[in-house]
Amino acid sequence: MAVHAHPDDESSKGAATTAKYAAEGNDVLVVTLTGGERGDILNPAMDRPGVKERMSDIRKEEMANAAAALGVDQMWLGFVDSGLPEGDPLPPVPEGSFAAIDLDEAVEALVRVVREFRPHVMITYDEHGGYPHPDHIRDHEVSVAAYERAGDPDAYPDAGEPWTVSKLYYTHGFIKDRMVLFSDEFERHGQESPFKEWLERWERDPSRGDLMGRVTTQVDCGKYFPQRDDALRAHATQIDPNGVFFAVPLEWQQRLWPTEEFELAKTRVKTSIPESDLFAGIEEP
Ligand SMILES: [Zn+2]
Repeated sequence: MAVHAHPDDESSKGAATTAKYAAEGNDVLVVTLTGGERGDILNPAMDRPGVKERMSDIRKEEMANAAAALGVDQMWLGFVDSGLPEGDPLPPVPEGSFAAIDLDEAVEALVRVVREFRPHVMITYDEHGGYPHPDHIRDHEVSVAAYERAGDPDAYPDAGEPWTVSKLYYTHGFIKDRMVLFSDEFERHGQESPFKEWLERWERDPSRGDLMGRVTTQVDCGKYFPQRDDALRAHATQIDPNGVFFAVPLEWQQRLWPTEEFELAKTRVKTSIPESDLFAGIEEP
């Protein structure tokens, strides 16, 4: 079970891994916490009359196409996108939005789904949300709490039969080593790297650290990168097909960095680090 904040996050964070496990015959469920109602149109080609007005419906259609591309099941938890607050000082998140509602309400809703779907493994974001969107940080809090409480018969007794999840992972996308590797490859081909600015920002602010130090698990999934890209493209309002997501040729990615990175945050089974399989240590029933 991969728990994501908005439609499109499942296609940009650990997507090829979910496609791989689904292709190998596992039941994979993406839980999308909010409807992404406050997303802007980030693809110039989709910025045309009528799109903004139908955003909510359009994002549902896009999500269905993305899930089909990945070969996974998907469900909505029905909370309302908090939007990305901008300004100094930051304005509060809108009333009633996902980041503003009582944490417990969201945890119970997710616990209910965990007890129904009975996942062995859950995937979420780290405590910084992967990037600082209030819904992403909330996604982390809700997922960790659901992992802790789903197996506790005293917690949410009306939300189904207790189910104990074996492992909880954080997905890590912003790996500096990976960006450096691709940047070097662009240079070797006499092209300017699309990551130049990111890497310079990294140099200026080393406090951002390198997430690679936290990675415990690398899943070999290069074969599924084309499906990941199809899923990304399905989110046509959110993803610019000429943008940075598609800047690195697939062949380079599959040759130079054919894995996705995860951090084993919590486990109830024995495993040894480093891992190459999210199900390592979990016995077949
Ligand atoms: Zn998001």
